[in-house]
Amino acid sequence: MIIEPKVREYICTTAHPTGCAESVRRQVAIAASRPSVDGPKKVLVIGCSTGYGLASRISALENLGAETLGIMYERPSNGRRTATAGWYNTAEFERMSAEKGIYARSINGDAFSIEIKEKTIEIIRKDLGKVDMVIYSLAAPRRTDAEGVTWSSCLKTTGEAFTEKSLDLRTNEIGEKTVEPATEEELHSTIKVMGGEDWAEWIDVLKKADVLSANAVTVAYSYIGPKLTYPIYYHGTIGAAKQHLHKTMGEINAAHPDVKAYISVNKGLVTQASSAIPVVPLYFAILYKVMKEKGTHEGCIEQITRLFTEKLFGENGVVTDENGFIRMDDYEMEEAVQEKILESWKAVKTETVKDYCDIDGYWEDFYNMFGFKYNNIDYKKEVNPEVPIGGIKD
Ligand code: NAD
Repeated sequence: MIIEPKVREYICTTAHPTGCAESVRRQVAIAASRPSVDGPKKVLVIGCSTGYGLASRISALENLGAETLGIMYERPSNGRRTATAGWYNTAEFERMSAEKGIYARSINGDAFSIEIKEKTIEIIRKDLGKVDMVIYSLAAPRRTDAEGVTWSSCLKTTGEAFTEKSLDLRTNEIGEKTVEPATEEELHSTIKVMGGEDWAEWIDVLKKADVLSANAVTVAYSYIGPKLTYPIYYHGTIGAAKQHLHKTMGEINAAHPDVKAYISVNKGLVTQASSAIPVVPLYFAILYKVMKEKGTHEGCIEQITRLFTEKLFGENGVVTDENGFIRMDDYEMEEAVQEKILESWKAVKTETVKDYCDIDGYWEDFYNMFGFKYNNIDYKKEVNPEVPIGGIKD
């Protein structure tokens, strides 16, 4: 079939297999241009198929030379409908791993469930023995916990309603958006989904099954952002979940003295998860503009290769702030960058939107995530949407 993008609000419901493969190849090339470091050799990536998790898997392969087991929740094609981007990304990742002769296998299923945890343990035992790093990079709208209760996450404020400038990406108009406060139940539910409970559960079960090496490292990804977005992000429902995740780092370290748990606070970037957050797209569009002008803009792969090669396994050892967090948002949070963003934020109007916002850059990242708008791909060509994944384990 000929595959075109079908964009609905902040999601694209189609994905291009050749374009997604191109996206993975480009990320592999970036990682390969960075140094190799001595680090973990058997890596489990939970949430491995898109965004930060995919970048982690790629950097584990290229910069650590590691074997990887990945967990994802993706949809294969049924011949009429395309697969999801994460499916195609994973197919290409596995192909490239095999080309290098390095093990890569993927499990497609609900990482929150006990069944997938058990399946993971079984595969680690059989194929890898033990793993020495666990990356936790899930971004999910809901979670059914071990007791069978389903929780949903929401993106709301806590306390009062919050009204701020907002960018309508369909029309490039600057307007206002009001974000309503969450109920206690919604807040609790978001913490259940995006907080640290499941991360801790993973480490507990892997440890209990004796499939984690001594001194294994586990890293969960977080975001804090500037005061500007605090009402919707850090002081909102998602921020409350992230603060729970931060607390979980200490709990894992206390419960398992031979596991080193870290939080990596990453940069704000357009991914499938983040494009759904209200108000944030305007901040990202200004952030992209300011950081690109300064020459410090990074995508997921630049962030994670820097994390692995400089801040986790580099010559200075693990580089953390006073809270024990690894700060990959260091360039984003630079005072000069934030001052410039605030100036732009105050000044931007619909008529001047392109002067202050990197709208094209935002959309380029958005389409690229689904394998579209790569200039070396012929999108008029028929492609087979059904792409098998070699190492998939059902
Ligand atoms: P993403 O949507 O690109 O990736 C989410 C991954 O989780 C995918 O691989 C998906 O298949 C997998 N997944 C979702 N539900 C699952 C389930 N039930 N079972 C198994 N796999 C499942 O998101 P992302 O932006 O890369 O986010 C990853 C992490 O990084 C999140 O914790 C997020 O908060 C954090 N982070 C994101 C940003 C940002 O700006 N995008 C910044 C800092 C930190």
